[in-house]
Amino acid sequence: KTFETFGISPEIIKALTSLRYYSPTPVQEEVLPLALKKADIIVESQTGSGKTAAFGIPLCEDAVWEENKPQALILVPTRELALQIQEEIMNIGRLKRIKVTAVFGKSSFKTQKSELKQKSHIVVGTPGRVLEHLKEGTLSVEKVRTVVLDEADEMLHMGFIDQVEAIIDYLPKNRQTMLFSATMPPEVARLATFYMREDRVSVK
Ligand code: AMP
Repeated sequence: KTFETFGISPEIIKALTSLRYYSPTPVQEEVLPLALKKADIIVESQTGSGKTAAFGIPLCEDAVWEENKPQALILVPTRELALQIQEEIMNIGRLKRIKVTAVFGKSSFKTQKSELKQKSHIVVGTPGRVLEHLKEGTLSVEKVRTVVLDEADEMLHMGFIDQVEAIIDYLPKNRQTMLFSATMPPEVARLATFYMREDRVSVK
């Protein structure tokens, strides 16, 4: 199979080719068709499976350049992961000029605040700092159509679940939710039950 099979737009295919992503990984093959049709998805997968592009490609496909407010929010356990995801999605969305802003703790709130004031199609961040921006009114989520919870089990182990839930409560009810986790402890399964649509699909 090739990426063309999924109806991905030419400018994104072109970006994938320059990243030397010539064909989808098994996780991408499963997730892409579901994610592109805006299904809620639970994915049990490890890092190294290509999961970032599995949600990054649909987010770039869905992003409307003219809309200045964030259209997707990605929550991650660590700053390193936030930066990695920012870079990969920027590369995938390069020809669409998709802007990805990363926000995380122990880093200037003011700098992030001014970055969020600029055009920002996709925001990726750690729960504590994302919640601070929401409380301060420096991150607007009224245009968010998709939320991704990446490495949900890690966010649980790091004690971020309450913050993740508080963040989701700020988001529009009518949205797509994608949850990625290497393992499925009950607290993560509970997130799915409470915050995802009933017709969510599980992928292993
Ligand atoms: P991830 O699981 O998202 O951390 O991705 C693992 C690695 O696989 C990263 O270095 C990606 O750049 C790479 N990658 C993701 N998708 C593909 C693909 N379809 N073909 C080749 N490499 C890929």
